[in-house]
Amino acid sequence: MAKFIKSVNLKKDYPQTSGEVVFIGRSNVGKSSLINSLYGKIAYVGKTPGKTKLLNFFDVDGKYTVCDVPGYGFANRSYDELIAFGQMMEDYFANREALKLCVSILDIRHKPTKDDMEMLSFLKESQIPYLIVLNKADKISGNERVKNIKMFSELLGIEAQKLVYVSTLKKTNIDLLKERIENYFI
Ligand code: GDP
Repeated sequence: MAKFIKSVNLKKDYPQTSGEVVFIGRSNVGKSSLINSLYGKIAYVGKTPGKTKLLNFFDVDGKYTVCDVPGYGFANRSYDELIAFGQMMEDYFANREALKLCVSILDIRHKPTKDDMEMLSFLKESQIPYLIVLNKADKISGNERVKNIKMFSELLGIEAQKLVYVSTLKKTNIDLLKERIENYFI
């Protein structure tokens, strides 16, 4: 089970940890649902407006921490909000020494957006280890799934085996993903 630690913006307020996994994704991709499926209902989700603009930290059984960052690609953000968001993320990725893994969530139905591609390029350039999760697999057929995984694999230049498809609704592959994540914290 996971326990909420705190919501913060500034580096000086990040909690102490030996290792951290960060979850990123476009707004509405199912990030909150995925975190809840993996770790139980910890979330504060969505309902408290302020928190969705901050970095939210959770402790997982004293083994590692989870950082849930605001979803990107949200159309209704003001210019000032976008700048503040960008600054917070830059600070986070530049300063979080405990960061061991980034879980990047995409929608299995659609090609990655420009924002998704930029985020993934950034992770590659920064040499931050990452896993790519394709969510909402229940929304397409098995055939489409195979086809789309191939599309993601080619577009992103990643072996198909490294892409984990999940459904947070049907709980498909949630245990497998958790195992893959926890391999980084042994
Ligand atoms: P967030 O904005 O990325 O945190 O996304 P949410 O977790 O709030 O989910 C956005 C919407 O997608 C909600 O209506 C969820 O119920 C739905 N959703 C999330 N995961 C799945 C999934 O695996 N399958 C289906 N069918 N819907 C999902």
